[in-house]
Amino acid sequence: MILIVGGAGYIGSHVNKVLNERGYETIILDNLSYGHEESVKWGTLCKCDLANINEVDDIFTKYDINAVMHFSSFIDVGESVRNPEKYYNNNVVNTMNLLNVMLKHDVKKFIFSSTCATYGIPQKIPLTENHPQNPINPYGWTKLMVERILKDYDTAYGLKSVILRYFNASGADESGIIGEWHNPETHLIPLILDAAMGKREDIKIFGTDYDTPDGTCIRDYIHVTDLADAHILSLEYLNKNNQSNQFNLGNGQGFSVREVIESVKRVTGRNFNVTQTQRREGDPAILIGSSKKAKDTLGWDPQYVNIDKIIETAWNWHQKLNKE
Ligand code: UDP
Repeated sequence: MILIVGGAGYIGSHVNKVLNERGYETIILDNLSYGHEESVKWGTLCKCDLANINEVDDIFTKYDINAVMHFSSFIDVGESVRNPEKYYNNNVVNTMNLLNVMLKHDVKKFIFSSTCATYGIPQKIPLTENHPQNPINPYGWTKLMVERILKDYDTAYGLKSVILRYFNASGADESGIIGEWHNPETHLIPLILDAAMGKREDIKIFGTDYDTPDGTCIRDYIHVTDLADAHILSLEYLNKNNQSNQFNLGNGQGFSVREVIESVKRVTGRNFNVTQTQRREGDPAILIGSSKKAKDTLGWDPQYVNIDKIIETAWNWHQKLNKE
């Protein structure tokens, strides 16, 4: 059985779906603080908090767990600057609780959701896995600390891990039954979709004076189903007794904030107000990843390279979520 920690959240719920489609049995550990019970449509849900070591331990005693995928972390960069204690406690201390229970039960395969935010300000685009890691906010540091812990736990205890550094997760499963559902929402695509629906009066562009062709930030938007596939491939990789490894997961293409807004207008056929405001703190101008290593080593073959296609799936889900 595969334990999915944070399986009620955005990316975890998509991975849960694909794992079940491929015949894996899943246990979902989630405290439902940000995740949604409605998103757990497959597997067995255990409502539990990683801070409660005894309860986590009980889950490992009760179920025959072979590998763990860990998605449950706080992700709001701005909040991590204002309230680092919350981030270090959940993203680092709670992850250590999980790892220590795994070791106690001799479970030694771990797939970890890391982030391109561990690189900090890029010195070279596209970012490759060996780019220096110098995060510029506590969120990025929490992820990098866990990466370091995993390296040491491998050396000392033989715990094998695959670290997946996501770029901008986006889109939704084609079925439209699960998708991105954050509260509060801070991500660009769902916020633009809210504007397209008339749920917000406008979409604000954070900075139009970046050193990019149209002055707005460029990001690498990678579809959540492609991310899910990479997790299955990582599991198969560990099941073949390979060494621990790290991979970027991006689609290798960048889209500016304005290009994403134009795509939403094309796909939804709706118009809405776009306003310009000052830069958001801590935003590098361009983040684009090279995923060559994941393609070569894992055989990863992302399907959603077109931004309109990504937005189409997000819009399909967003309409269902808002009962439009
Ligand atoms: N962004 C924006 N307006 C918004 C939200 C985001 O202009 O209301 C920009 C943000 O500055 C960044 C890009 O959109 O350049 C993607 O932001 P998001 O928060 O979705 O993801 P991040 O890149 O921070 O992981």
